[in-house]
Amino acid sequence: MDNVTTARASQTRQASIDRALGRAHQQAAAGVVPLLLATTFTGGAIAETWSVPSRTSDALYRVVLTHSAGAIVTACDCQAGREGRVCWHRGLCRLAHEERVASRTACGYRMRPKVAAVRQPRRLDQYALTGRRSA
Ligand SMILES: [Zn+2]
Repeated sequence: MDNVTTARASQTRQASIDRALGRAHQQAAAGVVPLLLATTFTGGAIAETWSVPSRTSDALYRVVLTHSAGAIVTACDCQAGREGRVCWHRGLCRLAHEERVASRTACGYRMRPKVAAVRQPRRLDQYALTGRRSA
Protein backbone atom coordinates (compact mmCIF):
# COMPACT_ATOMS: atom_id res chain seq x y z
CA MET A 1 0.00 0.00 0.00
CA ASP A 2 1.19 3.51 -0.68
CA ASN A 3 1.27 6.11 2.07
CA VAL A 4 -2.10 7.65 1.17
CA THR A 5 -3.80 4.25 1.17
CA THR A 6 -2.13 3.37 4.46
CA ALA A 7 -3.18 6.67 6.02
CA ARG A 8 -6.75 6.20 4.78
CA ALA A 9 -6.91 2.65 6.17
CA SER A 10 -5.57 3.92 9.46
CA GLN A 11 -8.23 6.68 9.55
CA THR A 12 -10.97 4.17 8.79
CA ARG A 13 -9.65 1.93 11.54
CA GLN A 14 -9.53 4.82 13.99
CA ALA A 15 -13.10 5.81 13.06
CA SER A 16 -14.36 2.29 13.80
CA ILE A 17 -12.48 2.28 17.12
CA ASP A 18 -14.02 5.66 17.98
CA ARG A 19 -17.50 4.33 17.13
CA ALA A 20 -16.96 1.21 19.25
CA LEU A 21 -15.75 3.28 22.21
CA GLY A 22 -18.68 5.69 21.79
CA ARG A 23 -21.14 2.80 21.84
CA ALA A 24 -19.31 1.28 24.83
CA HIS A 25 -19.74 4.55 26.75
CA GLN A 26 -23.46 4.58 25.81
CA GLN A 27 -23.90 1.00 27.00
CA ALA A 28 -22.03 1.73 30.24
CA ALA A 29 -24.27 4.75 30.82
CA ALA A 30 -27.28 2.50 30.19
CA GLY A 31 -26.09 0.21 32.98
CA VAL A 32 -24.19 -2.52 31.14
CA VAL A 33 -21.40 -3.69 33.45
CA PRO A 34 -18.72 -6.05 32.14
CA LEU A 35 -17.78 -8.99 34.35
CA LEU A 36 -14.10 -9.79 34.91
CA LEU A 37 -13.87 -13.59 34.95
CA ALA A 38 -10.13 -14.10 35.29
CA THR A 39 -6.83 -12.28 35.41
CA THR A 40 -3.50 -13.92 34.74
CA PHE A 41 0.02 -12.51 34.80
CA THR A 42 2.41 -14.05 32.33
CA GLY A 43 5.85 -12.55 32.02
CA GLY A 44 5.31 -8.84 31.41
CA ALA A 45 1.70 -9.21 30.36
CA ILE A 46 -1.66 -9.06 32.05
CA ALA A 47 -4.36 -11.18 30.44
CA GLU A 48 -7.96 -10.54 31.43
CA THR A 49 -11.02 -12.55 30.44
CA TRP A 50 -14.25 -10.57 30.42
CA SER A 51 -17.88 -11.40 29.88
CA VAL A 52 -20.16 -8.85 28.21
CA PRO A 53 -23.90 -9.34 27.64
CA SER A 54 -25.26 -8.95 24.14
CA ARG A 55 -27.39 -5.87 23.57
CA THR A 56 -29.81 -7.75 21.34
CA SER A 57 -29.99 -11.31 22.71
CA ASP A 58 -29.33 -13.42 25.82
CA ALA A 59 -25.83 -14.20 24.58
CA LEU A 60 -22.75 -13.49 26.67
CA TYR A 61 -19.65 -12.63 24.73
CA ARG A 62 -16.15 -13.43 25.85
CA VAL A 63 -13.50 -10.74 25.49
CA VAL A 64 -9.83 -11.49 26.08
CA LEU A 65 -7.71 -8.42 26.80
CA THR A 66 -3.93 -8.60 26.87
CA HIS A 67 -1.92 -5.69 28.21
CA SER A 68 1.81 -5.88 27.60
CA ALA A 69 4.53 -3.27 27.18
CA GLY A 70 2.03 -0.43 26.89
CA ALA A 71 -0.04 -2.14 24.20
CA ILE A 72 -3.59 -3.29 24.90
CA VAL A 73 -4.92 -5.94 22.53
CA THR A 74 -8.49 -7.26 22.65
CA ALA A 75 -10.38 -10.05 20.95
CA CYS A 76 -14.09 -10.87 21.14
CA ASP A 77 -15.99 -14.00 20.19
CA CYS A 78 -19.09 -12.17 18.91
CA GLN A 79 -19.91 -12.28 15.20
CA ALA A 80 -18.25 -8.93 14.47
CA GLY A 81 -15.23 -9.83 16.58
CA ARG A 82 -14.77 -13.15 14.81
CA GLU A 83 -14.79 -11.25 11.53
CA GLY A 84 -12.01 -9.02 12.83
CA ARG A 85 -14.22 -5.96 13.21
CA VAL A 86 -14.05 -3.63 16.21
CA CYS A 87 -17.09 -4.28 18.39
CA TRP A 88 -18.26 -2.26 21.37
CA HIS A 89 -17.72 -5.30 23.64
CA ARG A 90 -13.99 -4.91 23.13
CA GLY A 91 -14.28 -1.17 23.66
CA LEU A 92 -16.20 -1.65 26.91
CA CYS A 93 -13.63 -4.09 28.32
CA ARG A 94 -10.83 -1.77 27.37
CA LEU A 95 -12.56 1.10 29.18
CA ALA A 96 -13.19 -1.18 32.18
CA HIS A 97 -9.53 -2.25 32.19
CA GLU A 98 -8.58 1.42 32.30
CA GLU A 99 -11.16 2.01 35.04
CA ARG A 100 -13.05 4.51 32.92
CA VAL A 101 -16.32 2.61 33.30
CA ALA A 102 -17.69 0.45 36.10
CA SER A 103 -17.00 -3.26 36.14
CA ARG A 104 -17.42 -6.18 38.49
CA THR A 105 -15.70 -9.44 39.30
CA ALA A 106 -17.10 -12.92 39.76
CA CYS A 107 -17.22 -12.43 43.52
CA GLY A 108 -19.49 -9.45 42.97
CA TYR A 109 -17.23 -6.58 43.87
CA ARG A 110 -18.25 -3.55 41.87
CA MET A 111 -15.41 -1.36 40.67
CA ARG A 112 -16.17 2.27 40.05
CA PRO A 113 -14.71 4.28 37.25
CA LYS A 114 -12.03 6.77 38.17
CA VAL A 115 -12.46 8.88 35.10
CA ALA A 116 -10.91 12.05 36.46
CA ALA A 117 -7.77 10.24 37.57
CA VAL A 118 -7.18 8.25 34.41
CA ARG A 119 -4.31 9.05 32.13
CA GLN A 120 -3.13 6.65 29.50
CA PRO A 121 -0.15 4.84 30.99
CA ARG A 122 2.79 4.57 28.65
CA ARG A 123 4.45 1.50 30.03
CA LEU A 124 3.23 -1.54 31.85
CA ASP A 125 5.54 -0.88 34.78
CA GLN A 126 3.75 2.43 35.36
CA TYR A 127 0.77 0.43 36.53
CA ALA A 128 0.61 -0.39 40.20
CA LEU A 129 -0.20 -4.04 39.76
CA THR A 130 -1.33 -4.61 43.31
CA GLY A 131 -4.07 -2.86 45.14
CA ARG A 132 -5.13 -0.42 42.47
CA ARG A 133 -8.60 -1.90 42.35
CA SER A 134 -9.05 -2.10 46.10
CA ALA A 135 -9.59 1.60 46.60
ZN1 LIG B 1 -17.83 -8.33 20.39
